[in-house]
Amino acid sequence: MKYISTRGDAPVLAFDDVLLSGLASDGGLYVPEEWPRFSAADIASFGGLPYPELALRVIRPFIGGTLDDGALAGIIDGAYANFDTPEIAPLKEIGKGEWLLELFHGPTLAFKDLAMQFLGPVFDHVLKARGEWVTIVGATSGDTGSAAIEACRDRAAIEIFILHPRGRISDVQRRQMTTVPSANVHNIAIEGTFDDCQDLVKAMFNDKPFRRRWRLGAVNSINWVRIMAQVVYYFWAAVRVGAPKTPVSFAVPTGNFGNVFAGYGARQMGLDVDQLVVGSNRNDILTRFFETGTMSRGEVHPTLSPSMDIQVSSNFERLLFDLEGRDGGRVAEVMAGFGESGQLAIDDKALEAAQTVFYGARFDDEETKETIEAVYQESGELVDPHTAVGIAAARAQRRDSTVSMVALATAHPAKFPEAVKDATGVAPALPERLADLSERQERCEVLANNLKTVQDYVAANAGQGARS
Ligand SMILES: *Cc1c(COP(=O)(O)O)cnc(C)c1O
Repeated sequence: MKYISTRGDAPVLAFDDVLLSGLASDGGLYVPEEWPRFSAADIASFGGLPYPELALRVIRPFIGGTLDDGALAGIIDGAYANFDTPEIAPLKEIGKGEWLLELFHGPTLAFKDLAMQFLGPVFDHVLKARGEWVTIVGATSGDTGSAAIEACRDRAAIEIFILHPRGRISDVQRRQMTTVPSANVHNIAIEGTFDDCQDLVKAMFNDKPFRRRWRLGAVNSINWVRIMAQVVYYFWAAVRVGAPKTPVSFAVPTGNFGNVFAGYGARQMGLDVDQLVVGSNRNDILTRFFETGTMSRGEVHPTLSPSMDIQVSSNFERLLFDLEGRDGGRVAEVMAGFGESGQLAIDDKALEAAQTVFYGARFDDEETKETIEAVYQESGELVDPHTAVGIAAARAQRRDSTVSMVALATAHPAKFPEAVKDATGVAPALPERLADLSERQERCEVLANNLKTVQDYVAANAGQGARS
């Protein structure tokens, strides 16, 4: 298996190099040269497998010989050993043919653990095999950071720096990052928005001498391996609601477009996906795109679902690559134009292609709370605001009531307790292992939204932890 850049001007790489490099050298994102394909018989055979075994089947074709099967199986088993249920991702019916896929049973209570708990040990394994080390820099709008930190803490070959927008993530989210005492973990609160944090990370990667000197690696959703690991639960859910005999639809609360792009990936791999419904909060750049074929960058508005307070969705470029006929030169042009003007457009044919599977819907905070309340009344389930946006989108856009609709529950309700309590009157409790979170000691550096300041901080602190 080889990987190519969406901008067509970076080296073709094997799995281990894609893992370590994050962003491609031409500024693009790596995608598989060709998606592996599963037949209906293959998909049928996924039905009885435990989650780790299914993960092995889905992930193996992407690895292309860089890890042997025994090593891969060991990594996968370890990755899903820290979940609080043996099912890993339980599926619950909350309405007629309407399902909730619970992706919050990992150590940091959000779906990002499903990929990150795999990514951490894969990084470690490949680095050890090569005698190398890496400095992870990442931006988080809330949940990525804690998931990355949990996955990388105390790993000798990894130093990790996570930027978050100061004051714009929930207390639980912040504390899950800043209370980790490991010496190789560095939290930076940026005076700015999540997009500012993401721009800083991108700029560090685009500074080639800096990138080489500190051997930067990424665990943001631009990292291919995260997408790959997320594809697994689309198959997992689909076979539980009738695939491959019947099609299945998914509704996904969307920010950086990584999660729903994995659903698109499952479809490219042979899963019969009828609809992929993209749910947005007020930051609705993506849902507008799927209506109009044009994207226009606006301001970021803080909402009840902060992990979706994003205007520029970095993984969108991976879809754009396909919509533009996999023409890297064309994508490079479109993205350069977008960088300058904040605008991009695809032609009608590409829009039609996108609209055969992608649907969008947006909801403000009031509507989000109404959905939390409605779901609680109907089913007794407490859902977090992100999940609620996905469920609302599923209900608004479901076009065929005979096709199962799986709404992805992306965070545990106790990660966003105020909104849930406001909507339902019930305060969701943190699971036992996090019950004393508010008493733990925090460690965090506040820095200006300035590239040089952040680079100086990384340079001064990289290597002071586990490696020194
Ligand atoms: C990260 C996150 C999202 C958005 O996922 P993307 O892959 O960025 O689209 C949605 N909900 C929660 C709870 C998240 O943590």
